[in-house]
Amino acid sequence: MSNLKENAKQFVDMILSSSNLVAMTGAGISTESGIPDYRSPGSGLWEKMDQSVVSLSGFIEKPSRYYDYSLELYPIRRAAKPNPGHDLLAELENREILKGIITQNVDGLHQDAGSGEVHELHGSLRQAVCMDCSVLQSMDEAMERVLSGQNPPLCQECGGVLKPNAVFFGEALPVRPWERSVELSRNADLFIAIGSSLLVSPANTLPDIAIRNGSKIIVLNNTPTPFDGEAELLVRDQIGEFSSVVMEILSAKNS
Ligand SMILES: [Zn+2]
Repeated sequence: MSNLKENAKQFVDMILSSSNLVAMTGAGISTESGIPDYRSPGSGLWEKMDQSVVSLSGFIEKPSRYYDYSLELYPIRRAAKPNPGHDLLAELENREILKGIITQNVDGLHQDAGSGEVHELHGSLRQAVCMDCSVLQSMDEAMERVLSGQNPPLCQECGGVLKPNAVFFGEALPVRPWERSVELSRNADLFIAIGSSLLVSPANTLPDIAIRNGSKIIVLNNTPTPFDGEAELLVRDQIGEFSSVVMEILSAKNS
């Protein structure tokens, strides 16, 4: 049996015997959907985009600069589709095996795959938030206004500037998703970290909370993480391919 298949079998055994399964996902789960990992060198985006564009102070100074970049990048994001990694997590929630997803991603692909219990630590690029009255609006609609020449797009309630509802540099994490993520991690008996380098604080404290409360941990990532030594199962395979094999094994068990 190949290593991938053996790992997938062990993965299935572990998730089926867990009673509080939690998944935390990072950029690595979405790269196979065509969304580049901003932090990986050579992805091109950081080279292309001045970091101040996605900092709060840079945005406040000149919001139109962010939307100028978005005219090019937003359509790429909107065209992205969930891959077998997202599909697997949606299926596990559907089967009431998975209690929730904690994600560092802002792409909305878990929701597209059908996941309901998604806690977005860094917010979402699918929504725009008014900087004056805090009302949330659809980013798709905001981008349509940018396309028709309103840059920056303005709040339809109060005329304030709309900002993507994702966490920019210099901004605090939203409180509610964080609190819920800590609670999920504390109660987990199996914590799967998928496609995250587990280097970004404070998100990387969550697997630590899980482990300290007695949880086992599985790490699926193509590069080393600080938690590899504590992982009961460590998988380096492509997330999409691995997830497809896991789905096959799960389906075979069900039939
Ligand atoms: Zn407003």
